[in-house]
Amino acid sequence: AAKDSGKNTYSYFNDSMKAKLMEKIQLQSELRKAIENEEFVVYYQPQVDLKTDKIVGFEALLRWMHPAKGLIMPNEFIPIAEETGLIVQIGTRVLKEACKQLKFWEEEGFHKLSIAVNISARQFKDLEFVNTIGAILEETNMQPNHLDLEITETIALSDLEYTVKTIDKLEKMGVSFSLDDFGTGYSSMNYLKSLPVHNIKIDKSFLDTVVDNIPEQKIVETIISLAHSLNLVVIAEGVEQHKQEIFLKSVNCNKAQGYFYSEPVPKEEAGSILRNINLM
Ligand code: C2E
Ligand code: MG
Ligand code: MG
Ligand code: MG
Repeated sequence: AAKDSGKNTYSYFNDSMKAKLMEKIQLQSELRKAIENEEFVVYYQPQVDLKTDKIVGFEALLRWMHPAKGLIMPNEFIPIAEETGLIVQIGTRVLKEACKQLKFWEEEGFHKLSIAVNISARQFKDLEFVNTIGAILEETNMQPNHLDLEITETIALSDLEYTVKTIDKLEKMGVSFSLDDFGTGYSSMNYLKSLPVHNIKIDKSFLDTVVDNIPEQKIVETIISLAHSLNLVVIAEGVEQHKQEIFLKSVNCNKAQGYFYSEPVPKEEAGSILRNINLM
């Protein structure tokens, strides 16, 4: 029997599985090298206030400049970084870089900007997380109330007690939290009231279908008014068309982000967009 199961196991581990595993192992070791060689670059995507049409912040989005493969997008490497725990180290770098950049823009005269940084489950659950944020704020000397940490509901709800405690500690330091990809997961309005987040980001999937779709419009409108009744700021993600912006303004959405305004871009380009739009 032992021999049989051994044989079975072997036959299930076919060539394509082997290839996938090899690729994963290679990616892991390349990720380690990428940290050492500083191959990660932070891009910035503007967040626009729908009342003033000005840029009020940026979201930091990670890119990997692979020496041979070129630009690699986060969906291709974040899961493996998460699995191996390397995301903690990578995430700390992103935080530092993004906070330094915000400080740079603050010194240029843009005093009201915020910076949003995505936080993975491993990072959020790391026992040093609160200390790491504190150290980065101290080191970069940026205003803590301009830092906005994005977590998903999966992370937030997996251990509600820990989530509430952690958010409370950081909130006392001035840091705020956004619930990312809102509407894609469990998404009960009921849990929203028990999560001490400050902003929700309505997922792109809602925006994709919102134009000319009355039921979808009603859903988005309802999410926004419920969020407002809980004193939450609402950010719409993935806005690509003017029609979507017009709708969002009509239902009092607070902020928007998407290709309609700008794709995520390197810091220099983000800076010139900022100077062009906000000084107009
Ligand atoms: P996310 O946080 O939900 O970020 C939004 C994603 O939508 C970004 O993809 C952004 O480039 C894209 N996007 C923004 N506006 C539009 C639009 O109008 N149309 C379309 N089609 N896409 C738009 P990106 O940069 O590939 O990042 C994907 C995900 O990877 C992020 O989703 C986030 O979950 C994760 N991620 C990115 N950077 C980091 C990081 O530094 N740390 C961690 N833990 N996760 C990150
Ligand atoms: Mg995000
Ligand atoms: Mg999102
Ligand atoms: Mg996402």
